[in-house]
Amino acid sequence: MLCVPCYVFHENLASQIAHVVYAKKYLDRHPAMNADLFLLGTLLPDVRRVTDEVKRKDTHIIYKELDLELKDLSPFEAGYRFHLWCDMRREEILNKYDFYSLKRTNAIDPTAKLVEDELVYDKYKNWEKLRWLLNNPPEIKTELPVSRETIERWYSIIAKYFEKKPDDKTIKAFLFKQRKLRGQTDEIIDGVKKLKENKKATDILKRVCEEII
Ligand SMILES: [Zn+2]
Repeated sequence: MLCVPCYVFHENLASQIAHVVYAKKYLDRHPAMNADLFLLGTLLPDVRRVTDEVKRKDTHIIYKELDLELKDLSPFEAGYRFHLWCDMRREEILNKYDFYSLKRTNAIDPTAKLVEDELVYDKYKNWEKLRWLLNNPPEIKTELPVSRETIERWYSIIAKYFEKKPDDKTIKAFLFKQRKLRGQTDEIIDGVKKLKENKKATDILKRVCEEII
């Protein structure tokens, strides 16, 4: 079990592709889980990146404790909670390997997450199917005070981002749609380029995916 307060102070969400790859690991071990709803749930918490309706603490700090006891939840809620668990677990792994002591790893957020996304993209094979689902989501019941319109907009933005392994162009387009990051796009792209040259850092980022569950 991980305690929530240890990560409250960091802006440490993993990025969206990595979240799908982590979810796939969980789903492979739990074949009875409804994969579509689980994935939609796991991709929702970062919706606050495209809206002012909610803040990160509204979407991320909603449970006192987190664990992987997800069986009794609805598939959507299980996926949602799995996302939060992964955010914390990822940070724990990065700290274990002293990731942030390496050069360029403290570059502006979400540089390291974008690099991780690129590193793990090929570990998931059903991007096309997932993109269709994101563009045609079923009615979703959530207690988040976010409109259906915003949720659909967020899902369609990430569907576009999932089109291919991230490159400068897709990263730029993705960042541009996130108002708070838009002004820092060039800086982030530059950070991604430099961080990718740091083999120690990319090795650790790859380990996150291996060790997350
Ligand atoms: Zn998150």
